[in-house]
Amino acid sequence: MLSTNKIRTQTSLKKPSATTMMSFMCYDLHTHTTCSDGSLSPSQLVELSVTQGVKHLAVTDHDTVAGIVEAEQCASGRINIIPGIEFSTLWKGINVHVIGLNLNLGSKVLQQAVQQQNAIREQRALIIDQRLQKLGIEGALMGAQKFSTGDSIGRPHFARYLVEANYVKNINQAFDKYLGAGKAGDVKHQWPSIDTAVEWIHSARGLAVLAHPQRYKLTQTKLKSLIQYFVEAKGIGIEVVSGIQEPYVTKQLNDYAHQFNLLASCGSDFHSTENGWQLPGKLSSLPSASRPIWERWEQSNTPTM
Ligand code: AMP
Ligand code: MN
Ligand code: MN
Ligand code: MN
Repeated sequence: MLSTNKIRTQTSLKKPSATTMMSFMCYDLHTHTTCSDGSLSPSQLVELSVTQGVKHLAVTDHDTVAGIVEAEQCASGRINIIPGIEFSTLWKGINVHVIGLNLNLGSKVLQQAVQQQNAIREQRALIIDQRLQKLGIEGALMGAQKFSTGDSIGRPHFARYLVEANYVKNINQAFDKYLGAGKAGDVKHQWPSIDTAVEWIHSARGLAVLAHPQRYKLTQTKLKSLIQYFVEAKGIGIEVVSGIQEPYVTKQLNDYAHQFNLLASCGSDFHSTENGWQLPGKLSSLPSASRPIWERWEQSNTPTM
């Protein structure tokens, strides 16, 4: 663990356009807590999700499952907690995220995977610090550690430090100038392949879902090649809906889900109550013709509400 300080600031993303269709879903299968780069503790996330009308909540922190026990304890029958994770992987030089849903937390493979990912994160944090130092930025590692209260230190924690120390005006600018794709702080060669992450998820009897496909800013040809790769790696689902998105994006991703025989998932990717992140359960609707991924576990053994 790198730090236990409790200071928080907020991340910022673009606000959704007013024309997008939205609704509140009782399934939210992608959320974050302070165990990675979210701003609410697992208990606070559960309380907010209950208020929002969410009935099935997957806690999917980056490369850690540390928040799930607390979320389950806090839920106490009011909401179904689905143990999840968002694994960082690398595909053709792109940082691709793979969600694992409905995990068996007792899996030794999963526990080792989490340890390995967190070790990578700590090594990466050192490299980010060195790279920022070369650009004249002092104290970045200690500054980021102050904002990282979980096991999973990441670029958002560096971003908060860069804002605090007045190197940039806001989080977006920190990513644009220093941490985003192709910038000095974008250190990605250490992440495992998609195949490895899917194998880890399968070892924990979970379902592997390709996270927010539209976020990678790929051409349609390259996106299809990513989805094809994911299917060959034995991934089973794709996020057809990620937060509030334009209807044409939902339609296109749903078409890909059908074309590649993938189940449809949906999640807010909630991180914080401020600065444009969607609230838990606040999602565009899944198309009625989609095959929701939860049918897979509701048919089997998972607790129902
Ligand atoms: P990492 O897991 O350390 O690679 O950092 C990736 C995380 O950074 C994502 O999960 C987002 O939460 C956050 N992020 C990426 N781009 C931006 C951005 N432009 N503005 C705010 N947060 C971002
Ligand atoms: Mn994040
Ligand atoms: Mn992600
Ligand atoms: Mn996420």
